Amino acid sequence: MKRFGLKGKRKVEKVDISELQEIPAKVLRNKRIAVYPGAFDPVTNGHLDLIKRGLRLFDHLIVAATNNPNKHPFFSIDERLHFIHTAVNGLPGSLEVSTFDCLLVDYLKQTKACVVLRGLRAISDFEYEFQMALMNRNLFEDFETVFMMPSVEYAYLSSQLVREVASYGGDITGLVPEVVRLAFQKRRSA
Ligand code: ADP
Repeated sequence: MKRFGLKGKRKVEKVDISELQEIPAKVLRNKRIAVYPGAFDPVTNGHLDLIKRGLRLFDHLIVAATNNPNKHPFFSIDERLHFIHTAVNGLPGSLEVSTFDCLLVDYLKQTKACVVLRGLRAISDFEYEFQMALMNRNLFEDFETVFMMPSVEYAYLSSQLVREVASYGGDITGLVPEVVRLAFQKRRSA
């Protein structure tokens, strides 16, 4: 097999791709579609940070807000979708905003997604995310969960924290998109 040198001492073997196991045509044809699921109650700049990272990595990203009224979200599903739509407007890349009210694995099958994108902030996220990822894999094997870390300034930011601060009239500028900040302001003055 032909060898070629790098600038340093190391020599790298050139890979003859005909020797590799054949990649199924289906995999080559499919775009890498990722689903970023979450409550987004409301979307924060931490979520947005992850969306931007996801857009760089995947061919198509679906930001999917869970629609489970039993969880009594602070903002309605229409409000949450509106916030996300407004916040992602103008971002480069192939992006879709949607909602689902079924098992995540069923949603993956429907959308032909092969990746679930989730965020990891502090260590406290790990156990829950680990359980969810393995449970979902147990239900359906044909996808991978990809975890990404946000910029350090968002590492401790959560929707719940934003709701708490905003409910006492605290300043949430810089933590959420402007459309969300205004929505909290409107709620307080209603
Ligand atoms: P869920 O109830 O599904 O956790 P969230 O909207 O709270 O819904 O979070 C959705 C995903 O976004 C989760 O993977 C969560 O870890 C991630 N996430 C939330 N806030 C941040 C943040 N500040 N930085 C990075 N990831 C985040």
